[in-house]
Amino acid sequence: MLLIECPWCGPRAETEFSCGGEADIARPLDTDELTDKEWGDYLFMRKNPRGVHREQWLHTQGCRRWFIAQRDTVSYEIQGYETFERPLLSMDGNDAKAQAKAQEGKAS
Ligand SMILES: [Zn+2]
Repeated sequence: MLLIECPWCGPRAETEFSCGGEADIARPLDTDELTDKEWGDYLFMRKNPRGVHREQWLHTQGCRRWFIAQRDTVSYEIQGYETFERPLLSMDGNDAKAQAKAQEGKAS
C-alpha cells in the first residue's frame, strides 16, 4: 500500500485517496474546430510512462482537496506534491531537483 502525503493533512493510507489520472491535461479552447480524432485524443488518450509521471489525487476520505503527485511508476516512489496554489514540493526538500524531474516527465 502506498503512503500518500496530503499537502494539508499529512501522510495517509492510499485507501483514503482517489486517483484522478494524468495531470496537466488542458481542455482545448476551440472545441467546435476539433476533428473527431482530436476530440477523442483529448478525452481518452493518456500517457502510460515507465518512470516519472504526474498524477492528480483527491483526498476523498479526508479534506476532499485535489493535488498533484509526481510518482515514479517503476518504484512507486512519490517524489513530490503540488497544489494548485504552489509549485512542486519534494519529499526530501530538494525542490529544484524535483522540478527538473517534472520537466523530464513532461518532455517524454
Ligand atoms: Zn487531505
